[in-house]
Amino acid sequence: MRTRLSILTWPKPKGGPHHAICHYCDTVHVAEPIPEGSRANCILCGATLFQNRPASLARVTSFSLTALLLMLVVHTAPFVSMDAGGMWTELTLPGAAKALIDDGTPLVGFGVALFTIVTPLILAGGLVYVCGPLMLGRLAPGAMFVTRWMSRSEPWNMIEVFLLGVLVSLLKLGKVAELHFGIGFWAFAGLMFCMAGAVAAIDKRELWDRLEVARGG
Ligand SMILES: [Zn+2]
Repeated sequence: MRTRLSILTWPKPKGGPHHAICHYCDTVHVAEPIPEGSRANCILCGATLFQNRPASLARVTSFSLTALLLMLVVHTAPFVSMDAGGMWTELTLPGAAKALIDDGTPLVGFGVALFTIVTPLILAGGLVYVCGPLMLGRLAPGAMFVTRWMSRSEPWNMIEVFLLGVLVSLLKLGKVAELHFGIGFWAFAGLMFCMAGAVAAIDKRELWDRLEVARGG
């Protein structure tokens, strides 16, 4: 019989008891199922062990899909346009990375491409690929491998850092040239919020538990 708790919590892999270790004080806990919208805290230091976020799979999939659509706009639409003494320049995000590579700073150019184009694409694409089928209780081929790579790429998703750097640079450039933010810039700002929403929509423990259950564990 499905109890209220079993409806609200995510399915657990067979076997158990499952354990959760506090990342701050290393205390070992038995990881009991918790209702949707609640969190489990360490009994010793109070740090959060894991959370059961509401409608997690639906939210992570919709945020990631929106992020992928915004990436299309970011990579094709003008990011910023500049008018300096009658010279009009328009730049897209891949164009900016290419210009840095061509102008003798290839390391910075490749860094911009990797941290603002490749990594967010792996993260958002991977989340849609893994979490979409999980909504139907299915395991996408290679889902475990993709999830491992998503976890590795997550710290390298630096669109917030890039956006902050761009804003500081543009504030300085604004003194010598007339600047206009393009659609690509606003899409990039939206992308930043969507990526943050997608990553925060599901707890890693829930994701791995759901993957194990879908695999038949
Ligand atoms: Zn603790």
